[in-house]
Amino acid sequence: MFDLYTQDITYVHGVGPQRAEMLKKEINVVTVYDLFYYFPYKYVDRSRVYRISDIDGNMPFIQLKGEILHLEVIGEGRTRRMVAHFSDGTGVVDLVWFRGLKFLAGRFKLHKEYIVFGKPTSFNGRINIAHPDVDEAETLTLSTMGLQPYYNTSEKMKRYSLNSQAITKLQKALFQQALPSLVESLPAYLIKEHQLLSLPDALKNIHFPSGPHLLRQATYRLKFEELFYLQLNILRYAKLRHQLQNGSAFKQIGTIFTTFYEKNLPFQLTNAQKRVMKEIRRDLGSGKQMNRLLQGDVGSGKTLVALMTMLIANGNKFQSCIMAPTEILATQHLETIQEFLFGLDVKVALLTGSVKGKKRKELLQQLQDGKIDILVGTHAVIENTVVFANLGLVIIDEQHRFGVAQRARLWGKSKTPPHVLVMTATPIPRTLAMTVYGDLDVSVIDELPPGRKPIKTILQYESSRESLYGFIAQQLQEGSQVYIVYPLVKESEKMDLKNLEDGYLSIQSMFPQYAVSKVHGQMKSAEKEAEMQRFVIGESRIMVATTVIEVGVNVPNASVMVIENAERFGLSQLHQLRGRVGRGASQSYCVLMSTYKMTEETRKRLGIMVQTNDGFEIAEADLKLRGPGDLEGTQQSGIAFDLKIANIVQDEAILKLARETAEKVLKADPLTNLPVNNVLWKHLAYLRKSNTNWSLIS
Ligand code: ADP
Ligand code: MG
Repeated sequence: MFDLYTQDITYVHGVGPQRAEMLKKEINVVTVYDLFYYFPYKYVDRSRVYRISDIDGNMPFIQLKGEILHLEVIGEGRTRRMVAHFSDGTGVVDLVWFRGLKFLAGRFKLHKEYIVFGKPTSFNGRINIAHPDVDEAETLTLSTMGLQPYYNTSEKMKRYSLNSQAITKLQKALFQQALPSLVESLPAYLIKEHQLLSLPDALKNIHFPSGPHLLRQATYRLKFEELFYLQLNILRYAKLRHQLQNGSAFKQIGTIFTTFYEKNLPFQLTNAQKRVMKEIRRDLGSGKQMNRLLQGDVGSGKTLVALMTMLIANGNKFQSCIMAPTEILATQHLETIQEFLFGLDVKVALLTGSVKGKKRKELLQQLQDGKIDILVGTHAVIENTVVFANLGLVIIDEQHRFGVAQRARLWGKSKTPPHVLVMTATPIPRTLAMTVYGDLDVSVIDELPPGRKPIKTILQYESSRESLYGFIAQQLQEGSQVYIVYPLVKESEKMDLKNLEDGYLSIQSMFPQYAVSKVHGQMKSAEKEAEMQRFVIGESRIMVATTVIEVGVNVPNASVMVIENAERFGLSQLHQLRGRVGRGASQSYCVLMSTYKMTEETRKRLGIMVQTNDGFEIAEADLKLRGPGDLEGTQQSGIAFDLKIANIVQDEAILKLARETAEKVLKADPLTNLPVNNVLWKHLAYLRKSNTNWSLIS
């Protein structure tokens, strides 16, 4: 029987082994199903013909009708090109070809009526269209007019004449051969309930729209289908599995926790911290494995929550492990924890790449013997040689630096899977969390400890550098410390940006009375550590650095963060950097230094930074400006955004509906054995098999 899912693409007329190979390598189209679901990225209305006098260089693809007045090949070498002067009586444009001149020679006749289709640009005061489609007007029938699909193809494909037009041809062949065998991928009752187009109608209209209305309906149906299955996968496998996974039940909180809470805790917990602790305690006591994401803006006090969670593990005779993305951060965690636990009988140890030789061996032995209660570390803790006596809790700080695979290796270090708390300071918008972390429960600390003054953020240009230095001098005089962050370490010929080495020299000569620390990614880790430490203890007053200081570093006395070429940084990065200040009692400032010339997007980005300190607001804005694909962390977080048609930002409403629908389906059919849903489970199984990212998050 013809099976859409497995039928090789060579089944389609016009695809031989060579093309099949290319389709597979370049656009991951292997089966007939893949081709059906290879959607156009845009449509062009070919029913409208423009007048040359009405067009300009900023227009998208347009269509003209006219004749070629003059044709010539000019230029040498790489600039050799064929130019046709094309006119419709209202004006003249230049049609230009740089490639395939041999093939084109003799193809066009003067004074014959052609339809030209392409993207106009303006160059030296003339409008030209590079590599347009040119068809004889009389051969264009009505059916080839209307909304024409455009497919993405790679440069390599184009070289082998597998361009958008060729894909269109393949689609046509595919529809003729296989449309009758198409099997509906959603159960009939869902189609009815949500008034969706059938799959054949949706696919027909997504590739060859009969009109704008049907195109919209087709798009909606396919987006719904895609998001519905995404959610069904998360709910059916990942989330359910985690909910059912047995975990060690932490029945008590223990005396250490109580003593800590009553004697050592120097301040009141914020309400948000209290709420989150309740959520965590409920998980830990449930007998199921905790899988929780803790979101909280920089400085909201996540570390303390982590520590208290570890103390509960300790009270139940389990070891804990907290993992940080860098050595500097791990060291700081160790120090913070030791300080907090002063006088309490908890053994804390540090394991990083620089713990070597005999010391490492001893540490690993103690860990295995259960003599260490809390292990603080970097990636080093996931190595196979690190064996715990009874690991009960894993905490991962700054989640976005760790991939799912790394998380999974920690799971494996205990017979009963350890409880997991993932902490992130990069707030993740709700829609994204629903999709990316669909398998985690989410806790939010949405309140800063009392007494913090909101950081003042200002945007400045080169012209006010003098006054910036004056301001820095004044802050230093008052005893504060200052960060200055650069986008580059060294001068670059390619980019006209401020760099750290030059900055270091000029800052030194500008403020000779203060010691200056320097930290960047090309330094040895020990060297970096030492420089960082000088700043932490206040020996150096100014820190020039690259973004290596972005995450977690805590120097409450620092009150100024200057970011050079702020226009070069993404929103979440700027927010993270800003979070390095505002940790003490005094008023803090963030100065964004930028070039005056910037794009609209950059202006918006920096504007948002000036307007708000709220990490969630910034994350939402970031998502809207950049789209989910570029959002920091999404690549490593386990599910790449290889959605074919839906967009989780723009299609938030559909995503919600899809989520609700998936929940309803699972509730009605928990054993997945209702005959009406057969088609649905079969389709999900297929999707899981063909999408590696999907199987990863379960
Ligand atoms: P995060 O890890 O969320 O960025 P931290 O845990 O480093 O934040 O906390 C920032 C600072 O606030 C630390 O110095 C910490 O001791 C302090 N802090 C945490 N919770 C409170 C609280 N409830 N009241 C006052 N200060 C707090
Ligand atoms: Mg932190």
